[in-house]
Amino acid sequence: MSESIFKTIDAERRGTTFEEVVSQLREMIHNGDLRPGDRLPPERDLAKLLGVSRPTLRAGISSLAAVGVLQPRRGAGTFVVEAEGPPSLDSSPLRLMASLQRFTPAEMFEARRSLEMAIAGLAAERATGEQMAEMSEEVTGMFASLDEPEQFLVHDMRFHQTVAAASGNRILTALMNMVATILFEVRSKTVRRARDLKESAEMHRKIYRAIRDRNSEAARDAMRDHLMLAQKAQEQEEADAIHQPSS
Ligand SMILES: [Zn+2]
Repeated sequence: MSESIFKTIDAERRGTTFEEVVSQLREMIHNGDLRPGDRLPPERDLAKLLGVSRPTLRAGISSLAAVGVLQPRRGAGTFVVEAEGPPSLDSSPLRLMASLQRFTPAEMFEARRSLEMAIAGLAAERATGEQMAEMSEEVTGMFASLDEPEQFLVHDMRFHQTVAAASGNRILTALMNMVATILFEVRSKTVRRARDLKESAEMHRKIYRAIRDRNSEAARDAMRDHLMLAQKAQEQEEADAIHQPSS
């Protein structure tokens, strides 16, 4: 794979969100410029090639990892998923429907809450030591990025993906990823207005500890509390955005 296949994203399309990264990489996979098993160039190089910041690139990669298109492997880089890899559902029909406003944010949050509570309960029963270590790492990452909301959101996404993987149920995981990816994309537009990242990091730590203690009931409760608060935070950020539009 030659690096020249990566096209710089047009300056005027370079949004503050990572959607352009997602659509460009998807297009390259669709066209066969990127094939299953290919490794993406190192983050620094790829950010330069696409003309986006590293947090934006990271968010785009996380989003594609959430729907099973890319797979970050620790210490080895990020790979295009092998064709025979774990099944994933394409989120685009859901995304389209969401954009047609058939789903309200309240419905999306309710669906996510139901799925993630079930997932957290199962993760408390089934998580491996390695998965728990990954959850702990993402929580540490959240506390380290309290002043960088976009980076915080990447750790937040990865935390939920790890808990989902730890549930051991691929159907619940695929459904959760579809719903959560849409919500994370919406959130990425307002997250820099976030006020409560420390409280959010603490709630993730509570979920992690309940899973580590193999306490399903506590894991479900902590996940419910976290997602109720996340919904309120998002509603608040959107209200702020309407009252004080950014320049
Ligand atoms: Zn979260």
